Amino acid sequence: MIRVRGLNKWFGEHHVLRDIDLHVARGEVVVVIGPSGSGKSTLCRCLNRLETAQQGEIVIDGVPAPLEGRELARLRADVGMVFQSFNLFQHKTVLENITLAPMKVRGVSRTEAEKTARELLDRVGIGEQADKLPGRLSGGQQQRAAIARALAMRPKVMLFDEPTSALDPEMVGEVLDVMTGLAADGMTMVVVTHEMGFARRAADRVVFMADGQIVEEGAPAAFFDHPQTDRAGDFLAKVL
Ligand code: ADP
Ligand code: MG
Repeated sequence: MIRVRGLNKWFGEHHVLRDIDLHVARGEVVVVIGPSGSGKSTLCRCLNRLETAQQGEIVIDGVPAPLEGRELARLRADVGMVFQSFNLFQHKTVLENITLAPMKVRGVSRTEAEKTARELLDRVGIGEQADKLPGRLSGGQQQRAAIARALAMRPKVMLFDEPTSALDPEMVGEVLDVMTGLAADGMTMVVVTHEMGFARRAADRVVFMADGQIVEEGAPAAFFDHPQTDRAGDFLAKVL
């Protein structure tokens, strides 16, 4: 579903992604971990072209990621993204937040978009919040609304960049539960997170990044119990 080869990105002189090779199979859940500043967000942002790398190729579901035009809009629709900050439109209801893009980008009718939106809100457990403004919801509910909004585009891939980092601790579980459900339903997912319990439970593969490189990757049990590199070992010693 995702093939990244030889990806290199610089911000000015700063080489932030170094020869990144990453393959993600259909239905696979890849959790990306690593210290702050290691390039995790930049990698995610390159995958849906919020950032452009200077070198390398990205292929999503067999199609080289386009740089502009209608194809770029399609890529953004196919690759859903959920951020730490929920980025909901505060002056629109939860339902309107979710129906907007499918109507505008996918050309779905209002009736159809609202039906899908209500189903998705039920699926993430906030069906009764549909007609409220986001500000009336808790952080966990807002993040679940943001997930529903991404799903409304019927993406092929979902990227999560620290989706629980801005939440009060008691709300982390409800968002991780929604993500676990998505994974169980076969969604292809790339998840940047510091939630090591989630990584161990839900990941098919853990990718450890440091200084812009993929330093180590493996099945979660092997990675957490027997890291192969000192850098991964040192990182785990700090976070576990
Ligand atoms: P992570 O998500 O792993 O914390 P990031 O991908 O956000 O790391 O950042 C990787 C490096 O790139 C950091 O050194 C960061 O300061 C730098 N960086 C990120 N975004 C920008 C930007 N827009 N301009 C300049 N430098 C950036
Ligand atoms: Mg980040």
